[in-house]
Amino acid sequence: MAFDYDLITLGAGSGGVAASRRAALHGAKVAIIEGSRVGGTCVLRGCVPKKLLMYAAQFGDGLQEARGYGWQVPEAAFDMPTWATAKAAETTRLEGIYRQMLAGSGVQLVEGWARLVGPHTVQVGERQLTARHILVATGGAPVRDSIPGIDACATSDDLLDLQTLPARAAVVGGGYIAVEFASMLARLGVQVALFYRDRLPLRGFDTMLRTAAASALQAAGVDLHPGAAPQRIQRDGGQFLLVLGEDRMLAFPWVLNATGRRPNTAGLGLTLDAHGAVPVDDQGNTAVPGVCAIGDVTNRKNLTPVAIAEGRALADRLFGPGHQPVDLRLVASAVFMLPPLASVGPSEEEALAAGHRLQVFETDFRPMKQAFIGGTERTAMKLLVDADSQRVLAVHMAGADAPEIVQSLAVALTAGATKAHFDRTIAMHPTAAEEFVLMRQPSRTVPSAG
Ligand code: NDP
Repeated sequence: MAFDYDLITLGAGSGGVAASRRAALHGAKVAIIEGSRVGGTCVLRGCVPKKLLMYAAQFGDGLQEARGYGWQVPEAAFDMPTWATAKAAETTRLEGIYRQMLAGSGVQLVEGWARLVGPHTVQVGERQLTARHILVATGGAPVRDSIPGIDACATSDDLLDLQTLPARAAVVGGGYIAVEFASMLARLGVQVALFYRDRLPLRGFDTMLRTAAASALQAAGVDLHPGAAPQRIQRDGGQFLLVLGEDRMLAFPWVLNATGRRPNTAGLGLTLDAHGAVPVDDQGNTAVPGVCAIGDVTNRKNLTPVAIAEGRALADRLFGPGHQPVDLRLVASAVFMLPPLASVGPSEEEALAAGHRLQVFETDFRPMKQAFIGGTERTAMKLLVDADSQRVLAVHMAGADAPEIVQSLAVALTAGATKAHFDRTIAMHPTAAEEFVLMRQPSRTVPSAG
């Protein structure tokens, strides 16, 4: 059978674009179908605008700190409309670059919403397009039904499009999005209350990081409500009522729903798993021959660089040098709160559960920049070392520059570094990162949980 294309990709987000361009580089005839703007969540509604808002929030801290360093800084106020206009211009610029990159690679962009109507056939509006391979890279979207009434609340998509910030806000959830936005909003002048159902935010992260996150949020003035999940959310005039119990209701003018994301699977007609994701094997194949999937729609590690790596690996397998599996065991990730958190490798709890006997190296200090101005902000670091092999299993850090530092250390861990390699590395002084090579005595040795 002759097909219109070698590959049709559904979704022009980071993963879909990366896979399509790599496939075209290998000589494949490729079309990518997108019903919204080109660029996907990360560029348009996620990582990029979120980090630009984080920079805005960080300048507030910087202005305060500058006074301690001798600068005479007049009172300054944050102007959201200025940020919103600049953000819109920047995402439009980036979208333009994505479009140029697709065109430059010879990938044909088809604008419209796609429906999968057969293993090799896609319907876009009135058109049917066929391909030897179809790649589903449709990403995810905020969950809107986690709590009765939460569908009327804002999501991170809405927040990043605001022209003015509310004076008070409730943030519901304790994951990446909840913590990042609670931290930023508080610095931008919003009175924030954070509601999460565990004892600490960021379930799944190392306890050191979760504790540091709670302390940093509290220091920023966020009103923490651990163990608190609204049973329902009601409209009450212009307000939202968070019903925490029949005798406990709190009213807020604005609520952020940060209770997770769900794969975009409408129109695919594929069998889904219990979480609504498209199940795939370790090569990205779905149960339907000729249909593959990558990124958030598969709900494995929902991070942009993972989707990009999966997309490129898939294109290499289908049209290039062959299968190079993507190793998801040591994926570094960061929570861009202020100060940020970053991790590579398992949490202490996960490492123990996996049967490791651990040497735990920890330090906690007030960084030089803060000590000079009498600031209270701290930096915490942790190395998890397998007591038997001496391999460094994980690096965790809470504090200024944590994502930059941990990204670099992820290379050492990927290369299989042992504690002796860290000890042999000469420190770079004065930095915070040098503490990672100066921790000589374990603070604890912990038997495995097994
Ligand atoms: P997460 O899965 O990280 O967190 C969801 C949060 O919502 C959890 O705290 C969860 O609580 C809570 N929750 C879920 N259902 C309910 C409910 N019914 N009532 C109360 N609380 C509820 O999702 P996010 O939306 O924060 O982020 C989505 C994904 O996007 C992340 O997992 C990550 O992969 C990616 N992301 C990455 C970022 C980065 O790299 N910096 C930034 C933002 C997003 P509990 O823990 O109790 O289950």
